[in-house]
Amino acid sequence: MANSTLPVFKKIYIDQCSENSEVAARVRSLYPAEIIEVVDAGFLNSQRGPMTAEEFNLSKQTLLLTEFKGQFFKRCPGATQKKTLTCCNYHVLNLGSQCNMNCSYCYLQSYLNTKMSLIYTNIDQALEELKAMIAEFPNHPFRVGTGEIIDSLSLDEITLYSRKLIEFFKQYPKWVLEFKTKSAKVDQFLDLKGADNIVVSWSINPPYVIDREEHGTARFHERIAAAKKCRDQGYKLAFHIDPMIYHPEWKENYGFLVDEITREFTPEEVQIISIGTLRYQPEQRHMMRDRFGVNSLVVGAEMFPSEGNKLRYDATLRGEMLSFVFKRLKSKNEKWNAFFCMETPETWISALEKVPMQIPELKDMFKPLPTVPNS
Ligand code: SF4
Repeated sequence: MANSTLPVFKKIYIDQCSENSEVAARVRSLYPAEIIEVVDAGFLNSQRGPMTAEEFNLSKQTLLLTEFKGQFFKRCPGATQKKTLTCCNYHVLNLGSQCNMNCSYCYLQSYLNTKMSLIYTNIDQALEELKAMIAEFPNHPFRVGTGEIIDSLSLDEITLYSRKLIEFFKQYPKWVLEFKTKSAKVDQFLDLKGADNIVVSWSINPPYVIDREEHGTARFHERIAAAKKCRDQGYKLAFHIDPMIYHPEWKENYGFLVDEITREFTPEEVQIISIGTLRYQPEQRHMMRDRFGVNSLVVGAEMFPSEGNKLRYDATLRGEMLSFVFKRLKSKNEKWNAFFCMETPETWISALEKVPMQIPELKDMFKPLPTVPNS
């Protein structure tokens, strides 16, 4: 693997408890010894606290390898009651936190409070927990996503966790694993054949938006090329056209995006396309302004308080944007499985004059996946 593509870290700390881990050995083989330092157990706690814009920037270039001390999987309440559960089945596996890419709208800006990026070195414990859940619910189709507070693949050259997860999930075909990324880092697992229960998904925007708002991410054509490589190896795909960002030429640019996806892939190869519009917590506005300036399409947007205490575009514009992409997809082929992510019934009605359960082709497909909106 070419080291020139490695994520950039100026300093890497290794917690004593992780010193003998596979990830620590790999970090030592990939990065210069001068930037690596072993620290004792109290170090992580000393790094907690609110961050300034500058500290947030720095936290992307500083890495700590440590162990996650709690339980990796927090089960839905439904899952702890009976074997006949009706919960949404989605579990988030966080194998670290913070991201080495830099999107202007990233919700981590209002979420994280650790002044460095973390990689948890005890993935084997997470896999043991999963095994125990499988033993308890062997026939229940859990979905496990790894891209909530860290990108699923952008640091994978360092951890190679994708390889362990793929091999693990291949043993349990009823369970679904989803990697979610804005990187193009797939070569490290592509010698492993894909499977129908392993989904590699990309959050994607038109090149115009990627260039302005998604700094340090793979460019549009790189994400498409990576998706094609995964498709060719038998992996299932998903795309998240999310967050859609308003700008005067939005129709032209999102039209291009839909045309490219539908030209390169078939509905059978892409399990789901989720569509969502820009949303963020009011608390992160000052951080975004400090970090990206008022020329950002996101910082300069006119936003209104909305559901879940988030700021969003006004409901009419949201409906127009969502409906545009949804209808363009369907105009290419009725079989595209598309749904609106994190939207209220009112927005569905404004966009399509219906809620999902009134749309025959969505009725079976539509299942509420909890949000994993940012990677
Ligand atoms: S939105 Fe996703 S890819 Fe972008 S910086 Fe945040 S976590 Fe990383």
